[in-house]
Amino acid sequence: MEPVRTCVGCRMRASRSSLLRVVSQNNTLLVDERAVLPGRGAWIHPTQECMEAALRRRAFGRALRVSTAVNTQTIEKRLNGYGNKVNGSK
Ligand SMILES: [Zn+2]
Repeated sequence: MEPVRTCVGCRMRASRSSLLRVVSQNNTLLVDERAVLPGRGAWIHPTQECMEAALRRRAFGRALRVSTAVNTQTIEKRLNGYGNKVNGSK
């Protein structure tokens, strides 16, 4: 059985491999491609919908236990490219 995580965007449970791990370092969100970065991680579907939902509800701040506003530009940029790639496969 694959470990299951909850997406911070849509709150649905999904297998780890179908979600993207996000960590906060120095108040900047980083996409943890290989799920190896230390610390608390938030999991999210690599889709525009979940990304927007998570940003709108500030779900990352809550999931990662950071009270201050986190810089989400890095992940927003990253996800735009990622979504296209994902949609092209399978
Ligand atoms: Zn989701």
